[in-house]
Amino acid sequence: MDRNLLQKILIALFLIASLIVGAKTFTFGNFAKTEVRNEKLEVNSTLSSSRMTYGRFLEYLEMGWVKQVDLYDNSRNAIVQASSPELGNRPQAIRVEIPVGASQLIQKLKEYNIDFDAHPIPRKSIFIMIASNLLLPLIFIGGLIFFFQNSENFSQNSGSGPMNLGKSPAKFEQRPDTGITFDDIAGIDEAKAEFEEIVSFLKEPDKYTRVGAKIPKGVLLIGPPGTGKTLLAKAIANEANVPFFSVAGSEFVEMFIGIGAARIRDLFKKASENTPCIVFIDEIDAVGRERGSGVGGGNDEREQTLNQLLTEMDGFKENKGVIVVGATNRVDILDAALLRPGRFDRQITVGLPDRLGRIGILKVHAKNKPFDDDVSLVQLANRTPGFSGADLANLLNESAILATRYKQETITKKEVNEAADRIIGGIAGTTMEDTKNKKLIAYHEVGHAIIGSLLQYHDEVEKITLIPRGGAKGLTWFTPNEDQGLVTRSQLLARIVSTLGGRVTEQIVFGDPEVTTGASNDLQQITSIARQMVTRYGMSNIGPIALEDDDNEQMFTSTGDSEYNENLADRIDTEVCKIINYCENLATKMILDNRTIIDLAVEKLLEVETLDGEDFRELVKQYTILPTKL
Ligand code: ADP
Ligand code: ZN
Repeated sequence: MDRNLLQKILIALFLIASLIVGAKTFTFGNFAKTEVRNEKLEVNSTLSSSRMTYGRFLEYLEMGWVKQVDLYDNSRNAIVQASSPELGNRPQAIRVEIPVGASQLIQKLKEYNIDFDAHPIPRKSIFIMIASNLLLPLIFIGGLIFFFQNSENFSQNSGSGPMNLGKSPAKFEQRPDTGITFDDIAGIDEAKAEFEEIVSFLKEPDKYTRVGAKIPKGVLLIGPPGTGKTLLAKAIANEANVPFFSVAGSEFVEMFIGIGAARIRDLFKKASENTPCIVFIDEIDAVGRERGSGVGGGNDEREQTLNQLLTEMDGFKENKGVIVVGATNRVDILDAALLRPGRFDRQITVGLPDRLGRIGILKVHAKNKPFDDDVSLVQLANRTPGFSGADLANLLNESAILATRYKQETITKKEVNEAADRIIGGIAGTTMEDTKNKKLIAYHEVGHAIIGSLLQYHDEVEKITLIPRGGAKGLTWFTPNEDQGLVTRSQLLARIVSTLGGRVTEQIVFGDPEVTTGASNDLQQITSIARQMVTRYGMSNIGPIALEDDDNEQMFTSTGDSEYNENLADRIDTEVCKIINYCENLATKMILDNRTIIDLAVEKLLEVETLDGEDFRELVKQYTILPTKL
């Protein structure tokens, strides 16, 4: 249950309870008071008749004139029933004040065999009076103590609660069993090497300090989400066998000024009590954002928090073994002060894994899963450029879930492919009815695939499918054979030709009037590629000039001479069109040349809905041998 809610309910219950108890006490108290008053009245009424001294009373006793004695007020007062000749031998109630220390009175009464009775009521009434006056505040104070004690308990788990606003919400693990070792991390070897060194700092600091080396205080991990930054930090804690404090930067971002800073202080206090240790701050940009930035010129709370972090990091002059590991994917927005020497000295970039990295990561995550022999992790790695470690772990997990769903003992190629398709292309839709549209889509996709298979410099066909996925009605997948590193002009052209292949096939097979809107995405893609070839990569007749930068901002804006600019824009458009025309002609030629094989492939595709790249290549090989040159 939500803890805040729980606390509110507790408060409400507590208030209701105290109201009830309070009301009871009041009635009870009034009751007691009336009783007291009645008693007093009774006493007073009897007293009003007559009184006598204690000495006289003793005489009466000796004379045997006393019949009965009622003691009140802790034996300070007595109402004596007596009859004497003085009183006309009529029994009368006489009040006697008994001096303090007359302890032998009771003894005497017994001696003379006098009927006596001690009345504790007035005393009891006083007690109740006091109690009833004190009870309510006592209940309140008790309740408050109880409530705050409880909220302390809550906050030990949650890090929030009224008495605990400044306590650090860091998860603290005394014995570092993060369970992660360096063997669980693959594909980011440089980062791993750096961290292995830090483990050795933590294990044998003397080795470094002896030669005058300073142990770094802070290590900043920079990279996109899911690339293993948390994993690395956990691994060092585990390998060095030191405590691991983990906290997300966002947990320091609070409404009230000073709370974030107090949490930082508390975190570092805990850390310094547990040296050597690792303090891991995820999303450090949440605290470390450049000061004085943001809407309204900065945020006092965040600035205080950041200042506190800077102070704490400066605090341990000689590093006694607190190593702060920060993670972010926005190093550009971090305050420069954080990156100054003595703070996050070391910056390690953790990028998306390359092909070999992906193979390594897949192997790590395949370890505890029973894969069929037909599953090739290498092939899977080929298919997944741009995937992070987390994406890959997720992919294998999804395939295991699918295998369970199909009640299989092992995970086969089918589940792995299905999981990959789903993650890359989106959730599969329902298959189309056999209509003319479906046939057109089949031709369109085969058009892409045939060019992809026959054209030099083109990536291999992975699969062709008529099962809708994401927004697309059909899909042709290619296996990128290189990671997005350097791409040649020929590869870019080949990509444009094959992408045009879909629309061109529609035109040739169904005629211009039947052409559909389905190719709009293809056309956007090719235009973008061609334009970048001209404006960024210097791959046109305009020459090796960067006309635009990465953000599509003009770099070549000259003198403000509009005629000149228009002229330049025209030239860019002309060059873009030239490239696309060239590619369109080539695509048209290839489709016309291979019409037989296209018809056959479409027939097959309509039958099976999904064609494997391997099967498709087999089919193509029977009719064509030579690849088309660009
Ligand atoms: P980050 O902190 O960079 O966002 P994490 O370290 O939390 O990413 O990674 C999330 C998960 O993804 C990990 O628990 C692990 O299963 C997987 N993963 C990410 N990178 C790797 C890697 N390099 N090697 C193995 N598994 C990885
Ligand atoms: Zn297409």
